[in-house]
Amino acid sequence: MTDDTRATLVSSDVRRHNLSAILDALAVRGPLSRSEIAEHTGLTRGAVTLLAGTLVDLGLVQEPAQSVGDAAPVPTGVRRGRPRTRLQLAGDRLALLVLQLDADSATAVISTLAGDELTRVARHHGRPMGDPDRIIDVLADVLREAMDATTRLGRAVVDLTVIAFAPVGGDPTIVLADTDLEWGEVDLLGELSARVPSMPQARLVSDTVAAAAAELALRPGVGDLVYLKSNSGIGGALVAGGQLLAGAHGLAGALGHVVVDFGGALCECGQHGCLVTVAGPDVVLHRAGLDDVVRDSGLATALAEFVARVEASDPLACAVWADAAEWIVRTLRIFALALDAEAIVLGGYWAAPALAERIRLMIGDEWPTLGGGKPRLTVERSTLGDDAAIIGAIAAARDRLFADPAALAAPVD
Ligand SMILES: [Zn+2]
Repeated sequence: MTDDTRATLVSSDVRRHNLSAILDALAVRGPLSRSEIAEHTGLTRGAVTLLAGTLVDLGLVQEPAQSVGDAAPVPTGVRRGRPRTRLQLAGDRLALLVLQLDADSATAVISTLAGDELTRVARHHGRPMGDPDRIIDVLADVLREAMDATTRLGRAVVDLTVIAFAPVGGDPTIVLADTDLEWGEVDLLGELSARVPSMPQARLVSDTVAAAAAELALRPGVGDLVYLKSNSGIGGALVAGGQLLAGAHGLAGALGHVVVDFGGALCECGQHGCLVTVAGPDVVLHRAGLDDVVRDSGLATALAEFVARVEASDPLACAVWADAAEWIVRTLRIFALALDAEAIVLGGYWAAPALAERIRLMIGDEWPTLGGGKPRLTVERSTLGDDAAIIGAIAAARDRLFADPAALAAPVD
């Protein structure tokens, strides 16, 4: 590498850093004048003017058509006094798009760069098992509708994330195995773009990774946690030193496929006795006698009914949950200690107070006291509800964009 190349790389790094510092200041503090930006970022006024020009050109920042302290709109053709003009995040031209596929539905959420939801499109796919084509057809319809809606809003999609309720990995990234839908490996992005050629470039993420990132963001100071959730299957994420562990094959958090019942039932992943085969939602609902509700009203409704029955102390539902909880707690204890975690976060329908409380009590406060003081491990319920992964994906898209705004040469549309 020549000195010149190195200098260019270093300066482009600094430039990226400064661009994202300006975006962060505007996201956190709202509209700011150039002088105020300089004050909050420590950049010189001249640097702010230059960099802000770039951000305006990229369409990420705009000057509102109104001056500070001047309630009346600025007449057309009148040049605004620069020092009195405030800059703000472009609120009306760009959008983030998240597409989510779970065991019941395909959902698209369009949001502003600040993460405010503009509109959503959702459709049940009817869960035809082992038939990726029919489900991807529905997902493609939802994507088309969402892209049309974005256009009608006068916005361009600058980031598309596709969330699968399954482990993903490989290059290109594919769905590795979706036990909820009886899928093996499926190139979801490839299949989608074949159906919707105008689809923007997208990234595929697993729901648990996106949701765990959202949970981590809610817990500043917590660097080591085990996240385990169940909506359709069972998914997990492991966070060590503030970083989500991916592992060599992207499977580090796939705790639904930890073998707990040796020689047990065959799992879609090829192993026998995975956690999902003894405590997965389909197993739990079957044992609780709720197969009819799953078939007629979908998994989400059936799980809500199961939770209601546990809350009402229905003996069968409580016995089923007690059995499932034992397998779940066994898994949680192993990984909580392996990570020396500070917190276990329960998501999906396990976040219901009655269900989470049982797990909390079973984990109790019996914990190794090696090395002196008693370590503290809390068991917490997710508060993000069914949208946890979508919230996490939107935040990650925003962070990506802010971290490298210059990479946004032109909005994809
Ligand atoms: Zn498995």
